[in-house]
Amino acid sequence: MRKKIILVAGGAGFIGSHLCRRLVGDGYKVICWDNLYSGRLENIADLRGNSNFSFVKTDITKKFSFKNKVDEIYNLACIASPGGYQRRPLETLLASSVGVKNLLDLAVQCKAKFLQTSTSEVYGDPLVHPQKESYWGNVNPVGERSCYDEGKRFAESLIYTYRNLYKLEAKIVRIFNTYGPKMHPSDGRAISTFLSQALTGKPVTVFGDGLQTRSFCYVSDMVSGLILMMKSREFGPINLGNPGEFTILKLAGLIVKLVRSSSQIAHLDLPADDPVKRKPDITLAKKLLGWQPKISLEEGLKLSLPYYQSQIKSRSKVS
Ligand code: UDP
Repeated sequence: MRKKIILVAGGAGFIGSHLCRRLVGDGYKVICWDNLYSGRLENIADLRGNSNFSFVKTDITKKFSFKNKVDEIYNLACIASPGGYQRRPLETLLASSVGVKNLLDLAVQCKAKFLQTSTSEVYGDPLVHPQKESYWGNVNPVGERSCYDEGKRFAESLIYTYRNLYKLEAKIVRIFNTYGPKMHPSDGRAISTFLSQALTGKPVTVFGDGLQTRSFCYVSDMVSGLILMMKSREFGPINLGNPGEFTILKLAGLIVKLVRSSSQIAHLDLPADDPVKRKPDITLAKKLLGWQPKISLEEGLKLSLPYYQSQIKSRSKVS
């Protein structure tokens, strides 16, 4: 039997690279596309020699011609850290609009299954807690986060439209905060930043009073959820995330303790439109996919630590 060919757009990014590795390990042929805005070749270095893996530097927002047949397309191609997308707002909007349309056209051409990684950001600063898929959200369309939030909302509408127009098997998952090895130490998100700061004894920068909450999912759990969704007959949207909810202050304390760091907490200004609380309702994922996260925040932080230690070691060698 021919091996399934799977395209992972954004495959050199944090979650994308873990997904590529899992799919190659499961015996599929994986084509990884990335424009390397936030993805890094270092994330996929171990896969480069594998005959079931190929990487092509590709920007999904530009015209591309692709003649091969693919069976499945996972789309993770979008800058996801608030600092990153605020530095490239136009590219972020285009990735979720023109880029998603280009990939959907490819899916129609290949009759491939398509999975879009949407986001908890479609709920904005939610007025309903925890967030269920049926909640329509509270998003500022002209704020600092809107290029990401509204882009992802537009992408959901595009996918819904393609499904109806072309009977495409196009699916949506909404990913909540995810962390683990290969999230770049300076990408600006809370866990990668706090681990790097704690390991180097620098102040741990908590924005605002730190009482805002997030729910953090370890990356291997997230990858399992993505694959189960692709295999299922469901279209979603389905939330994927770990419902364990923590204040950012508590997270900072946990990390300082885990690292046995001398770092102090430093409170900085809260960025505009920072959601006050966030926690996924994963009833649908449990019922329809048989999925729920297995790794607690403390376990996941321990599993992440060696990566950040090695990143800091190699950075100190360079400087
Ligand atoms: N945060 C913080 N210090 C940092 C980075 C983030 O206090 O150095 C806060 C941020 O304001 C937000 C939460 O941590 O309330 C999660 O931020 P992150 O960027 O990881 O993800 P978001 O959920 O905002 O997309």
